[in-house]
Amino acid sequence: MKGKTRLLIVLGALSICFIGCSRSSQPVVVSQAVGPIKVNCYLLYDAKSREAALFDVGGPIDELVSEVNEKGLKLKYIFITHCHCDHVLGLPAARERFPEGKVCFSREEYEDMGLYERWEEKLPPQEVAEMKKALGPGGDPELAALLTLDYDRIGKPDIFVADGQVFKLGGLKIGAVLSPGHSRGSMCYSTPGILISGDVLFAGQVGRTDLMEGGREAIVKSVRNLYASFPDETKVYPGHGPSTDIGTEKKSNEEVTAISVTIKN
Ligand SMILES: [Zn+2]
Repeated sequence: MKGKTRLLIVLGALSICFIGCSRSSQPVVVSQAVGPIKVNCYLLYDAKSREAALFDVGGPIDELVSEVNEKGLKLKYIFITHCHCDHVLGLPAARERFPEGKVCFSREEYEDMGLYERWEEKLPPQEVAEMKKALGPGGDPELAALLTLDYDRIGKPDIFVADGQVFKLGGLKIGAVLSPGHSRGSMCYSTPGILISGDVLFAGQVGRTDLMEGGREAIVKSVRNLYASFPDETKVYPGHGPSTDIGTEKKSNEEVTAISVTIKN
């Protein structure tokens, strides 16, 4: 092979690599379960640009903060799936640590925060009794901190997220899917191959629907929308419990597949 031809081939290969590499934004997900209700908080970042986002901040997220520091990540967004206390307790501290991170949640969640403060009115009496124990002498201080959360400290988001809105994280696109049923303004967030599902879809279950502004019909409709919107191999990262994937849930999530719920469109 002549020297010039070989050089051209090498240059060609390099340019293919360069083009390929320039498109190879890779999402990396790190999780940390936080607080007495073990809320999964996630850090998602683009390995190429190192732009990062947090998803829910249920308390101190020291492991995720260490990851940001160690990898030199640039925290661009703090997405909240919904504003129940166990998902936002650590938001004021996260805002202080990452003042550059834009806080994002839906307008419905902002409007319903006042209702969330009045949890005693909605929870079943037995649960209220258990919660009150946490607030009494010798109670669980972590649970008490959740139950007495002052929602004024959560405040307004920097961005009201709307259904279908798309955010850029380096080369990644993060899409928002409004998914009511657990709460009125629950938002799931996705990037290809990944779905952060909040308390809408869990492994083998769906979120409870007996809280403020929840509804059984709405949540089944929302989960079916997720099934229709994402490929089976999409990994699902829920707000509580282990991760799963869309294909597994389609087959075996009996709360959605086996129970007949009439959907009014
Ligand atoms: Zn919730």
